[in-house]
Amino acid sequence: MNSPLITNHKNSKAQFERAQHLMPGGVNSPARAFGAVGGTPLFIERGNGSSIYDVDGNCYLDYIGSWGPMILGHRHPEVIAALEQSLATGTSFGAPTEAESLIAEQIIDAVASIEKVRLVNSGTEATMSAVRLARGFTGRDLIVKFAGNYHGHVDSLLVSAGSSAATLGVPNSPGITAGASKDTLVREYNDVAGLEQAFAEHGPQIAGVILEPVVGNMGVVTPTDAFCKALNSLTKQHGALLICDEVMTGFRVAFGGAQSLFGLQPDLTTLGKIVGGGLPVGAYGGREEVMNYVLPAGEVFQAGTLSGNPLATAAGSATLRLLKEQPPYEQLEQSGAKLEAGLHEAANKHDIPHTIARVGSMMTLFFNDLDVGDWSAASQSNTERYAKYFWGMIERGVYLPCSQYEALFISTAHSDDDLQHTIDAAEEVFAIL
Ligand code: PMP
Repeated sequence: MNSPLITNHKNSKAQFERAQHLMPGGVNSPARAFGAVGGTPLFIERGNGSSIYDVDGNCYLDYIGSWGPMILGHRHPEVIAALEQSLATGTSFGAPTEAESLIAEQIIDAVASIEKVRLVNSGTEATMSAVRLARGFTGRDLIVKFAGNYHGHVDSLLVSAGSSAATLGVPNSPGITAGASKDTLVREYNDVAGLEQAFAEHGPQIAGVILEPVVGNMGVVTPTDAFCKALNSLTKQHGALLICDEVMTGFRVAFGGAQSLFGLQPDLTTLGKIVGGGLPVGAYGGREEVMNYVLPAGEVFQAGTLSGNPLATAAGSATLRLLKEQPPYEQLEQSGAKLEAGLHEAANKHDIPHTIARVGSMMTLFFNDLDVGDWSAASQSNTERYAKYFWGMIERGVYLPCSQYEALFISTAHSDDDLQHTIDAAEEVFAIL
């Protein structure tokens, strides 16, 4: 590689200085502050296709994709056209629109376990509502979650949480009352015996089990076959609901979600990210019998002033339509496989202990040579080395997740040349780690 290294972040530094006086930590969501890798977060001015550009005029290949939503890359012409068309008719009515039924049909058509769906504005709202519904439907209190899984900043789920909660050392946030977390049981991911024990001890009180069906929030971790079978059978046997949190994996790892790849049979599914095509949308849906407990069909309260917003549903609908009409999953698998093989070879060449976990276009290179199947293994990664890798890649024009405990995302806009550039950059960085 012979382009000069990117080291000028003068304007980002100035903007961060200003932002720190205005917003806590200078950001509106903690992962963005680069807390785990140090240094100044880059302020982004614009994006196009696979690239983003910062306020110093530097260009990067973007492997965050807004933390997942941008599966078609930035400014996909058909998504932009749908937004422009919607914009011409007004931005919000707080009344039913046909666009909501259209996207609801698209979701129900895509995800086999969803018979009815409710739109919300974020992944957090989706999981919060799904947990309330599981409790309302079953009349029980306890929720089982898994260490290192992140389900948004819902009080009862911010217990042993992944993502920035784990990265920044606050898996259990202050401000969450003992009352809010006492009904959450935490088990290790992929631990069948732990799950069996939870049901043996508390079966009649368990309202539901929530999981990331492929974890992205402790780095990528996949579920074992035995774990999926146990999740299906134990929840059924004990009358608890299985909740697949597919906020990250929905429409990402397969059109039908991770549940379609791993044989999971959820009662409820939560969605976000891709379902909004880059605008704020979340959704939860599932068996009709369960969804009919939601107000005004039933009595479980859940509402939203901007839910089903026309602009958000337009971007989401256009994205889902494109993913159905021109399924990109084969291409994304090939891109993921190329990047995985290239990074693996480059790391081996320089004797860097590592493990790569990947499902399609979601991937993590752990600086850790354990078989990473749960948070205990993931958390043994060399995060200092990750920080050096991250900045080495930034210098070479590649924008990776700013934490070891996040997934990178490949979009359909990433070309073969983009992937090769990324592999070449990584090889240079591994040589100096
Ligand atoms: N669930 C999962 C699996 C997620 O990855 C996230 C966000 N990264 C959320 C829930 C929360 O979504 P949001 O940030 O839109 O509230």
